[in-house]
Amino acid sequence: MLYNYINMMNHGTLAELLFPTRCAACGLYAGRLLCPSCTARLPYIRGPVCRRCGKPALYEVEECEQCRGRVRRLDFCRALALYDDPMRSVIHRMKYGGAWRLARPLGYMAATTLAPCLEGSTPCVTHVPMHPRRKRSRGYDQAELLARAVAEALGLPHRVLLVRTRHSPAQASSDLSRRRENVRGAFRALAGGGLPPEVILVDDVMTTGYTLSECAWVLKKAGVGKVLACVVARDLADGGLPGR
Ligand SMILES: [Zn+2]
Ligand SMILES: [Zn+2]
Repeated sequence: MLYNYINMMNHGTLAELLFPTRCAACGLYAGRLLCPSCTARLPYIRGPVCRRCGKPALYEVEECEQCRGRVRRLDFCRALALYDDPMRSVIHRMKYGGAWRLARPLGYMAATTLAPCLEGSTPCVTHVPMHPRRKRSRGYDQAELLARAVAEALGLPHRVLLVRTRHSPAQASSDLSRRRENVRGAFRALAGGGLPPEVILVDDVMTTGYTLSECAWVLKKAGVGKVLACVVARDLADGGLPGR
């Protein structure tokens, strides 16, 4: 707790002297959030992807076998990296280890994947919110911090457009239908002030895409025309393969 408190109070030298920053991925004292070796090993997604779910593909496709039908509310998705180490450890530290400071550089990096795809449009940036109770216990919502960084990096406005109304359990279940049920009806759009025609929806990890798709559906029902997703990591562990 004290470590977190000092991190929040002071980004500078005093905290660094008292509690030198460990690399979020390998844990070595690096004096920075990520050591050069782990930075070089981040599993960036480069090359062609499925436009709808951001999954690497042999050539660019509009949708792939894995996302057909399950993320149909998303118009587009870009992911910075695969959810493999060292990115997995970094995200774990950001979500569960109090390392909220990681959100800003990760958001900036994720924004670079989206910038070439905006084609002159100026969407509003928002995030997949956690339930207020969970945010209170964690002290922050990492997706919100990521979204603010994405907005800042792209020079776009950030608005909170969604609220999570149901405290659903963490998406640990490997049962796909249960995962879908967990997020169905769990969000509500905050339409005060009118909703923008185009939205960038930010989250940390995309696995099945059910959560992002549900949020996109809620936004579209409330009047948003187009939803582009931007995530830090794409988890292919599930892959959506039949029988898994
Ligand atoms: Zn490292
Ligand atoms: Zn796909």
